Amino acid sequence: MANRFYINCPLAVGSVLAQGPEAHHLSTVCRLRPGDQVYLFNGDGCQYPARVSTVSRKEVVLEVVARECPERELPYHLEVAAPLPKGDRAQFLIEKLTELGVTKYTPLRTCRSVVHPGEGKREKLERYVIEASKQCGRNVLMEVGPLTEWAAYAQLPSLPARRAMAHFAGGKPEWSGGQDLALAVGPEGGFTDEEVEQARGCGWQTFALGPRTLRVETAALVLVAWAIQSG
Ligand code: SAH
Repeated sequence: MANRFYINCPLAVGSVLAQGPEAHHLSTVCRLRPGDQVYLFNGDGCQYPARVSTVSRKEVVLEVVARECPERELPYHLEVAAPLPKGDRAQFLIEKLTELGVTKYTPLRTCRSVVHPGEGKREKLERYVIEASKQCGRNVLMEVGPLTEWAAYAQLPSLPARRAMAHFAGGKPEWSGGQDLALAVGPEGGFTDEEVEQARGCGWQTFALGPRTLRVETAALVLVAWAIQSG
């Protein structure tokens, strides 16, 4: 899956011009030369094998030779909401959710959460999604939602009807994975009793993940692994 590049423009067979930071990345960072073969993708679900035609510091021209649409997405909608962990753990979370095929990630604000990412952070998270997609071969980008209050998120009518939240005092969902699902994890301080009650009222089932306290990102990955394996 080497040499995949994200290009933020419509792609089709024929020549494509990369400019600005993308050209810099292709020419200076990746040292592409005329004749080199790469894959381009723009998040439309397909990938575009291409050959580098000309390279300068400001512009790279590539010739797209085909359009391939391999099926690499989950056949259902999988949403994950969790407070954003601090530092490198945020990147880890985004990278793994992307690799595992999650459709959308929403950073949560809860009563006890401490990190409240701003809009600048969202762009950074989208960069992490692109980097992970280059690596894992995903041709649809995981969507990153805006920072959302748990109380508002929990009752969104647009969420899948089957909803599970990681919580110590929980059980197991009554249904299995492999279908449209919303999954949520609380902050390091845990969900408050009111938050759990309110969510239960909106159809969330609580899901216990064992006797140890997992980090937010670990709990999120356990939920996703369960969702894609238990279908
Ligand atoms: N002191 C907190 C720990 C929070 S851990 C508490 O008592 O709740 C951060 C989040 O990860 C939790 O809100 C929960 O959603 C999830 N989590 C961590 N370990 C878990 C476990 N063993 N079972 C279920 N959820 C867990």
